[in-house]
Amino acid sequence: MNQTVVPDVSPATLEVVPLGGVGEFGMNMMAVSWEDTTILIDAGVMFPEPDQLGVDLIIPDLTYVEARGDKVKALVLTHGHEDHIGAVPHVLPMFDGPVYGTAMTLALIQPKLEEHEIDAKGRLKPVKPRDRVTIGPFTIEFVRVTHSMPDCVALVITTPVGVMIHTGDYKIDQTPIDGEHFDLHRFAELGAQGVLVLFADSTNVDRRGFTGPEIEVIDAFEELFTSTQGKLVVAMFSSSIYRMQVLVDLAAQFDRKVAFVGRSIVQNAEIAQRLGYLRIPSGLQIRDSDVGNYASQDVLCVTTGSQGEPQAALPRIAIDDHRFVKLGPDDTVVFSARAIPGNEKAIARVMSHVARRGADVVTDSMKHVHVSGHGSAEELKLVLSLARPRYFVPVHGEYRQLAQHARIAKRVMSGADHRLQVLLAENGDIIQFDERGARIAGKAPAGRVLIDVTRVGEVSDEVLRDRRHLAGDGVVVAVVAINRQTGSLVGVPELVARGFVVNEDETDSLFKDAAIVIAECIAMLSVEERADQGLMTEKLRGELRRFFKKRSGRRPFVLPVLMEI
Ligand SMILES: [Zn+2]
Ligand SMILES: [Zn+2]
Repeated sequence: MNQTVVPDVSPATLEVVPLGGVGEFGMNMMAVSWEDTTILIDAGVMFPEPDQLGVDLIIPDLTYVEARGDKVKALVLTHGHEDHIGAVPHVLPMFDGPVYGTAMTLALIQPKLEEHEIDAKGRLKPVKPRDRVTIGPFTIEFVRVTHSMPDCVALVITTPVGVMIHTGDYKIDQTPIDGEHFDLHRFAELGAQGVLVLFADSTNVDRRGFTGPEIEVIDAFEELFTSTQGKLVVAMFSSSIYRMQVLVDLAAQFDRKVAFVGRSIVQNAEIAQRLGYLRIPSGLQIRDSDVGNYASQDVLCVTTGSQGEPQAALPRIAIDDHRFVKLGPDDTVVFSARAIPGNEKAIARVMSHVARRGADVVTDSMKHVHVSGHGSAEELKLVLSLARPRYFVPVHGEYRQLAQHARIAKRVMSGADHRLQVLLAENGDIIQFDERGARIAGKAPAGRVLIDVTRVGEVSDEVLRDRRHLAGDGVVVAVVAINRQTGSLVGVPELVARGFVVNEDETDSLFKDAAIVIAECIAMLSVEERADQGLMTEKLRGELRRFFKKRSGRRPFVLPVLMEI
């Protein structure tokens, strides 16, 4: 991994090191240390952009965690979004201690641990808001905040030099779907008693006013339930449990059956139901395989794929490639999520496919079918003025957002009786607090590690250059020329390998057969699939992986490169 030396923690000093999510979006993680004790806050992932071929997930560089070794005593989680828990399976094997989180958060990491065959049952410690746990010199209190899913908490960490608050992700939803309010009282109490440092969510700092409650989307959906003649299909993030509840309630009211479509959404709906965070009246829910047995006007499908991910439910439905759910001219497809930057093209392609089926497309720019889970400027100001910290560190955002949050904080805390110092940190910065004050005192290793989930283990940051790591199975690049108009294969695909060595005679015949696999795969694609490079690349990648695994027993890193001619 990273070659940078990891400096020791200074004596009698609180050291906080953001390992991800500070100066970028996603993979939130932070280490908090006092002498021989380190606790970790969150362990999230970032999703790759479409051009990072062959990469499934991105996690923080864990060199720092590795270097702290058995001083790492616990992992503390704020909530169950992927950008906070996605890397938990990669972090758990690196230390022995407990993992603290609310019931919903822990339930969402359970399937990940099973997938990675990690037995951590005894280590998962459920907590409730206002609970406290002690780890070495730290006492951690969990304080409820509101966000776009249930059971989210801020962390109040009492350290030998003062109180540190980490907000986690939040907005201030004053009419929460589950009736569980943001614990503003506790923030005010803590502010009155004295807060050393506040770490706060900066995501929506550039939006004016208040973000608005989750219930705000009900009006728009009510209209859609009334006006849609056929099936209503709503794509969203699979963790948006509140949105699910809104839709389930409306389906009950408008006499539609509800089908969850897509693996992660089915799984999360099940978890939320089991824990009592999603209430579905009996008889309302049907399986995706039953959708065809109902008149289309009697069905609501809640699906994955709001980001245009080729393997998810909606993009498959949109090209008529889903076993059970088909689209017709009377149907309406709603994108009930924001487009994560980088996904716009993929989403636009899915919308065109939907339109080609004759169905209506509704996005949040047309109707108010999505509301953010992150607080806008006025909410961020409110939390600042309640907590009244001595030091402020904006987190969870790109640098421009951190800088804007810093400006706002200075304005909020400009009264003569209060001096606020802002520490504008980035990933890897070592932030020190001691008797003399606070400062950024150096740099610990931080960065990104790219994960290819079909492999065991990780591919380092310099994935395409790291010969040492790839020497085992190597890389195969398949250059495939396709006709710009028809999407059909032109000529014979060319295969280039690095570090993928079988014996030489075999390589020749292997690559000839691989070229045939490519030709057959493209021949099998529908016209629409051929028009969609994202889908085509995904299909080719899957087929070629299977082929090489079967024929050579190896799992080379497969990169199909499509060239339009
Ligand atoms: Zn979140
Ligand atoms: Zn987040």
